[in-house]
Amino acid sequence: MKFLVAVLFVLLNSSFSVYAESLTYPNGAKKAVIFSYDDAAIQDRQFVKLLNKYHLIGTFNVNSGRLGKKALWLKDFIGKEGKFIDVEELSRLYKGHEVAGHSYSHPGLAGLESKELIKQIKRDKQILEPLLSQEVRSFAYPLGSYDEAAMSAVKQAGYSNARTTQDSNSFQLPEYFMAWHPTVHHSKAMTLVNEYVSLQAKQLTVMMIWGHSWEFDENKPNNNWQYIEALLKEIAHRDDIWYVSAGEFIGYIISLEKNK
Ligand SMILES: [Zn+2]
Repeated sequence: MKFLVAVLFVLLNSSFSVYAESLTYPNGAKKAVIFSYDDAAIQDRQFVKLLNKYHLIGTFNVNSGRLGKKALWLKDFIGKEGKFIDVEELSRLYKGHEVAGHSYSHPGLAGLESKELIKQIKRDKQILEPLLSQEVRSFAYPLGSYDEAAMSAVKQAGYSNARTTQDSNSFQLPEYFMAWHPTVHHSKAMTLVNEYVSLQAKQLTVMMIWGHSWEFDENKPNNNWQYIEALLKEIAHRDDIWYVSAGEFIGYIISLEKNK
């Protein structure tokens, strides 16, 4: 009987959980911060500069089919014509950050005809990877639009994670890597940032902030360049936070699960 109890005890306790209190991130921290930014409009130039100034890491979700083109629709948001960054500046601009997929030309993926769906997801990866000379691991659903077919196409294409636009308002690790609900859009992030920096995390946690750098040009309350710099300043330079890209983060979680 004693033996059985002992076996049962070992079995029960060998079940792996990423929430085990003994686990940490590579720098010993239990908190991680990820910035996930969409569209690769030229406002990314200023945003990357800010991230670099505060030693923060971004994941930039790029539509390969829009690089170098005009973004006429941005006029309705920022009062002037927009533009996407050029193909040639891709690897230089995002050096030290992650370049991720966002589909070839930004259609809503939910309900998309299957041939077009696969093309949109695969083509983006196939164009970006040679330009960067590295694997593209992360994805963000354009317009936050996805369904089961989109999730499976993204997985099939070889991405390790895909972000939605649905705020979780939580610091928990994503339950489904192919439908990763970010913590919060930057315009609503300041309170949660204050909460997160003072949090004494007992288990692994993550805060993912998302948005578009062109929004800062809208110059609205809680959505302007001064605001985002204040937010970055608040969250930066903390010993108990791992600043990381979405792809590296998920890679680490997968490696923990493999080495259990
Ligand atoms: Zn987008």
